[in-house]
Amino acid sequence: MSQQDPDVVIIGAGVIGAAAAYEMASRGWRTLSLDALPAAGFGSTSASCAIVRFTYSTYNGVAMAWEGLHYWTDWPAYLQTTDERGLASLVQCGTLLLKQPGGHHLKVKPLFDEMGIPYEDWDADQLRTRMPALDPRMMGPPKRVDDEAFWAEPSQPLPGAIWTSESGYVSDPQLASHNLQRAAEAKGARFRFSTKVVAVVRSNGRVTGLTLDDGSTVSAPVVVNVAGPHSAVINSLAGLEGTMKIGTRPLRHEVHHVAATPALDFEHTGCHVSDGDTGVYFRPEVGNSILVGSEDPECDTRDWVDDPDDFDRTITPSQWEAQVLRLARRIPDLGVPNERRGVVDLYDVADDWIPIYDRTDLDGFYVAIGTSGNQFKNAGVAGHCMAELIEAVEGGHDHDADPLVVKGRYTGLELDLGSFSRNRAINPDSSFSVNG
Ligand SMILES: Cc1cc2nc3c(=O)[nH]c(=O)nc-3n(C[C@H](O)[C@H](O)[C@H](O)COP(=O)(O)OP(=O)(O)OC[C@H]3O[C@@H](n4cnc5c(N)ncnc54)[C@H](O)[C@@H]3O)c2cc1C
Repeated sequence: MSQQDPDVVIIGAGVIGAAAAYEMASRGWRTLSLDALPAAGFGSTSASCAIVRFTYSTYNGVAMAWEGLHYWTDWPAYLQTTDERGLASLVQCGTLLLKQPGGHHLKVKPLFDEMGIPYEDWDADQLRTRMPALDPRMMGPPKRVDDEAFWAEPSQPLPGAIWTSESGYVSDPQLASHNLQRAAEAKGARFRFSTKVVAVVRSNGRVTGLTLDDGSTVSAPVVVNVAGPHSAVINSLAGLEGTMKIGTRPLRHEVHHVAATPALDFEHTGCHVSDGDTGVYFRPEVGNSILVGSEDPECDTRDWVDDPDDFDRTITPSQWEAQVLRLARRIPDLGVPNERRGVVDLYDVADDWIPIYDRTDLDGFYVAIGTSGNQFKNAGVAGHCMAELIEAVEGGHDHDADPLVVKGRYTGLELDLGSFSRNRAINPDSSFSVNG
């Protein structure tokens, strides 16, 4: 590719930004990706649990995730290139969505049926016999550890679980981003790291370029904001404050790492568990450990962050205790370690916890933001949708009046991009949280 001005600049080289670069470059666009950090996937992607599951509560949520799975199962062929660091891989350990009275599974199951997504519906006995490491009893609703009821002896079994065997997690989220960078570069994409965007240049209602932290400018008729937890900062630079019905803001999250006992061997016999009954999700990790994250139960305080460049990256004793003890209640054989290990990073949370994949009121300026702690799995399909959207809108399509419907490359499912609009009404079917 020549060093002439790019057709499109993508702000952010996390997993979704890198996927957008690959999809755009594959369609012949001269792309330039800019990232303030030194390498692809070093932002919030690096802390991701990278769980790939389809247990969403809306049609479009399930459709995107089911389509998204196929990018990971087809990863080497999808990339059409190699990476000197090797390729990330999908570990299909399966997902167990624990049922609760009135729980999330009641929304998920009909959607699986409607889309023909394979699953098993386990009753209480099957849960007990198929997953013997788990205490199959009902402990919910989730409580804080300092609530006496946290330790109450459960008397009722959980009603069962929904099991999907094809889900799991991606081995290395940072490597997956690097894979996408290499695939994009093979199509002519350019990446510049340690380069921060400090201003958005606009003229007559259209974006025309960006100013960088070294004082230089880059001209481009199309810009995509894929800045993760910095999405609102970039939108503000573009003068878009107050122009979108759905906002985004950073939420601090901790994921804890707990060693499993050798007898437990969770690495080989465990699976991803979505446990709304205690308020955590967990999955196996290489080295026979377990990653445990919060499903944001109501009893926990949400830790909103004003400035995504300034938040506490140390693990807090109270959050550690809450999550690890919840996990220990569900897995009675787990020893609770003294040393606190884990990662702390930010979700870029949209008002209804559903991402925004859309154009904006500034012509030429697009957003793939508000990924709300749950869109790693959808990187490939999100990149595809953004590329289709940008091509359509730049070709004259009025996406606001007539929302684009994109056909899934693998499943053929219709993905209604109107449901990811910046101006949608808040979706009451959203779970307003994350199940991993
Ligand atoms: C703790 C945690 C656990 C998660 N677990 C899961 C999970 O299990 N499954 C799942 O599907 N999803 C999960 N997610 C969500 C998922 O990781 C994110 O949705 C996804 O990684 C977001 O990718 P991104 O490319 O949009 O953002 P990021 O990876 O954050 O990338 C944004 C990039 O933009 C750059 N940037 C920002 N501002 C500027 C600027 N001014 N100039 C230049 N560059 C800039 C940053 O440096 C950064 O590299 C989790 C997230 C977290 C934080």
